[in-house]
Amino acid sequence: EIRFEAVTKSFGDTPVIRDFTAEVADEEFLVLLGPSGCGKSTMLRMIAGLTDVSSGTLEFDGVRVNDLEPKDRRIAFVFQSYALYPHMTVRANIAFPLLMARFRWYHHLPVMNRIMRHRFLKNQDIAGRVEDVAAMMELTDHLDRRPRTLSGGQRQRVAVARALVREPSMYLLDEPLSNLDAKLRTQMRAEIAALYQRVRKSFVYVTHDQVEAMTMGTRIIVLNDGVIQQYGTPKEIYDRPANTFVAAFIGSPP
Ligand code: ATP
Ligand code: MG
Repeated sequence: EIRFEAVTKSFGDTPVIRDFTAEVADEEFLVLLGPSGCGKSTMLRMIAGLTDVSSGTLEFDGVRVNDLEPKDRRIAFVFQSYALYPHMTVRANIAFPLLMARFRWYHHLPVMNRIMRHRFLKNQDIAGRVEDVAAMMELTDHLDRRPRTLSGGQRQRVAVARALVREPSMYLLDEPLSNLDAKLRTQMRAEIAALYQRVRKSFVYVTHDQVEAMTMGTRIIVLNDGVIQQYGTPKEIYDRPANTFVAAFIGSPP
């Protein structure tokens, strides 16, 4: 369970998140919905520990984690901008979080692919996991390619596969479907929903797409300009939008 108590975030003097209080239950699929620049990615980065909370409290399972190192947070993060390692194959990119947990000398990237070849043949566990998630994301035929040779949608699927491989306790997904065509988007939406049903952990899913939010979320937070506009189930938000911003953004009937 993730809890925010009066969380604020400023960059310099500019507040981007104001008085954010909410919680994500253990088996909840929370959607953060809002327009560009409203603070969605910043929220995920705070949960992951990639940026500081300016004030207020962030808790996991009742324990304050404001100062916990990112590596100790047991989180899978699918970044908006993929952040794949260009010099590593798709296979090595997906396996990276598993290997990172095991080896501390992972920063020797040029050595990585060479190591991978051997480690892979030896380590059936890692190889099997990588192949399972690659199959789930339809990447089986691309495992030996480099990211620069892939399409945007294929790169995005590698980023999702990499986040899935470790089976963490929380999943943070930042617009994971935004670069996909309509068909893949529908398919991936179903894959992510199936993943959620299977693992039953906390998901925080960022999107600016109302349809995605409505179909995927157990609850939705509508965010505008760093302020929560409404916090409720898809039905509550659709049936009773809290204000004109929510009504317009969701497109519910007047
Ligand atoms: P998008 O849908 O376009 O990805 P977002 O909701 O994810 O938008 P954020 O990336 O969280 O928005 O940014 C929220 C605000 O904080 C924006 O005004 C942005 O310019 C600002 N911001 C984000 N990161 C920084 C930073 N490192 N330094 C200064 N300002 C930042
Ligand atoms: Mg963003």
